[in-house]
Amino acid sequence: MDEARIGFGEDAHRLAEGRPLVLGGVPLPEPPRGAVAHSDGDALLHAVTDALLSAWALGDIGAHFPDSDPAHAGADSAVLLRRALGVALDHAGDLRPRQVSAVVTLDRPKLGPHRDAIAASLAALLELPLDRVGITFKTSEGLAPDHVQARAVVLWG
Ligand SMILES: [Zn+2]
Repeated sequence: MDEARIGFGEDAHRLAEGRPLVLGGVPLPEPPRGAVAHSDGDALLHAVTDALLSAWALGDIGAHFPDSDPAHAGADSAVLLRRALGVALDHAGDLRPRQVSAVVTLDRPKLGPHRDAIAASLAALLELPLDRVGITFKTSEGLAPDHVQARAVVLWG
């Protein structure tokens, strides 16, 4: 039986005016620009979802919830994450997600004021205590002002 598994995920979306910006399941108020995506464009949840699947070699979010399926248009990424978690748990025996560590890179808006809300949302989705949800916010220093990017590692134990 496995003692532990680790999964890594990464996601990015282009930013455009007039789009919502949702991160970790939290819609940010009045974003200057939001994510261009088939779904709600939540890069953080997409990275975490891929990390959940990757730990069990179950492919990626696109394989489970293809862009080409109109059922996923405007999809709530929290729902997709929970469905992927269910798929992973079916393969996980007694193991559960024990920790998530994520990085979000975005130039504007500053995400610090939203850290607690984003961490609480992610903790609830993964059924983790807050002290096992680490989220780091970075800017691209102007190198990539037109996109939002997220990376996430999930430990199963
Ligand atoms: Zn995405």
